[in-house]
Amino acid sequence: MAARFPLTLFPGLTALLLFSACAAWAQSPLVLSKAMDTYTLTGHLGVFQDMNGTARINTVTLPEFDSRFNTLDRRAFQPSDPLISTWFKFTLDFSKLPRRVKKDQYMVRFSWPFIHMIELYIQAENGQWQRKRSGIMYTDKHPYGPEKFIAMDLGMPPGSQATYYVRMVAGDRMPTTVEICSKGAVFTQARWKSLLEGIFYGILIAMTFYNLMMWFSLRQQAFIWYVLSMILLGVYFSGFNGLTYQFAPALMGPWFYPPRLLLFLSLSGVTMILFARSFLYTRTIAPLADKLLLVCMGLWILGALLIFTARLETTLIYSTLLGLLFSFVMAYTSLVCWLRGFKPALMVLVAVMFSSVGGVVFSLTMSGLLPYTATGFYGLQIGTAIEMVMFSLALAQGVRMLKKEKEQFRSGQEKYMTLSMEDPLTGLYNQRWLFDTLKKRVDHAQRSSDLLSVAMVDVDHFKHFNDTYGHPAGDRALKTVARILESCLRKDDAACRYGGEEFTLVLTGVDADGAFEVAERVRTTLEQTPLKIGKRTSVTITASIGVAVHEKGESPENLIKRADEALYTAKTKGRNQTLIAS
Ligand code: GH3
Ligand code: MG
Ligand code: MG
Repeated sequence: MAARFPLTLFPGLTALLLFSACAAWAQSPLVLSKAMDTYTLTGHLGVFQDMNGTARINTVTLPEFDSRFNTLDRRAFQPSDPLISTWFKFTLDFSKLPRRVKKDQYMVRFSWPFIHMIELYIQAENGQWQRKRSGIMYTDKHPYGPEKFIAMDLGMPPGSQATYYVRMVAGDRMPTTVEICSKGAVFTQARWKSLLEGIFYGILIAMTFYNLMMWFSLRQQAFIWYVLSMILLGVYFSGFNGLTYQFAPALMGPWFYPPRLLLFLSLSGVTMILFARSFLYTRTIAPLADKLLLVCMGLWILGALLIFTARLETTLIYSTLLGLLFSFVMAYTSLVCWLRGFKPALMVLVAVMFSSVGGVVFSLTMSGLLPYTATGFYGLQIGTAIEMVMFSLALAQGVRMLKKEKEQFRSGQEKYMTLSMEDPLTGLYNQRWLFDTLKKRVDHAQRSSDLLSVAMVDVDHFKHFNDTYGHPAGDRALKTVARILESCLRKDDAACRYGGEEFTLVLTGVDADGAFEVAERVRTTLEQTPLKIGKRTSVTITASIGVAVHEKGESPENLIKRADEALYTAKTKGRNQTLIAS
């Protein structure tokens, strides 16, 4: 995920800004003038944080208390402590409303749905303050929260102006906007949210199944890490969107409540890194990026532990910064992998961009720096949804690429014969072909789990053979060796003449034991095949063979070198035998 942001952006910093920005002058009334609209209370909202918890409605409404309310000149308010009660005060002016619009069409709406408790005080005609309650503690009292946001009816005030008081105990330090909305606007926003949620979870579920199916059929690790990451992300968002609350309230407990939800985000980060490392082959393609990813993985794990030990603010700031860092590392990783020739990495890069932008928009919305909109609130989810589709496409592209490479190897066998890659004496490939092909196969083995090995075959005492039977007989013998090598190989394997009386076999899809078996088949067939010299004489020749299995990250040259060393040992140990390189 690639890149994704936690619940909010820099809550601590925002809080500082907010408080420095609170000026102590009287709040002007908010003039309502349109039937269906959303009004921000910026500049009209008085805020008083009741540090010792002694204020009551009878005290805060006293005229001498007015000066203790600071005007909020930002869109969002963030409590300085999760558990203190915050008093809000605002005055609405209904005098400019068109005639047909009733005063009871308005609600006060809090964008953050997980507020612990909200008490709204409305003054009745007799001057008495009436209290309405909402928030997590009183969910039955409000129809929209906590799964969407909290909206409370403002009633039907008697005069053309009415002052309202709100007491809020937040429960956490998430910023919330306080807005006046017409009931129509509230419903429209709720509808939009439901639609966006439907699209998001639709994509999430579809992509999860799609990638699960891919995993079942291809058994490539990248898919299962990706599926896991999406499931964890789904758990995180369903808690955050209030779906867990709506459909499985029993689960809410301590785990599915926003602060602890970060655990699922952290774990999703860990699995996302496992996905990236396995899909982009960072260990071999981009070693530096691979190390950075490992660092991020460690930091996500640390983040998961912080949730249990550190204060919420610390965790939030930590995960936000880590989300940013993670975005950069993922972007860097995919860029490097793309530049080094792994095409699907481009799709990953674009996907990371989308989720990062979404994360930034979301964080800015949550901290009140951007106007609150449903699209902003869902920015991260929209970015993640696009990311999910693009990652799935990238995974599919990766699979296509591997398949194409395999086909190229097959068709390449015929193609190369005509391209000066042929040894004129034996008709086998020559050394040029060997290094050309070996490079490609090593790259392919790096990216897939396909096995690759080479065997170096050297005819024993061939100088002596030449000296005894003559050079032409030696040439014929080399041709016979070539035919025997071909007869012992499968379709996907290849034999070439390395030079002189030395040959190389390129074997795919077999492990050390399998490669040893092929080499032994070659050796014993040679040993058992008599070569006719003239009419009467027939002799047999033997060969020594060194086998090496490709190790992750190994160069073609080194692979050949190890096989050669094994061959040399086979020679010194008495010839006519096969040895496997350590
Ligand atoms: P060893 O068991 O240690 O491999 O002994 P060897 O004699 O096979 O090794 P050496 O490398 O000393 O000799 C290789 C010989 O192979 C030398 C050369 O005469 C012969 N040879 C190389 N290329 C050809 C060729 O194209 N045709 C023929 N007839 N002989 C060749
Ligand atoms: Mg030799
Ligand atoms: Mg030899």
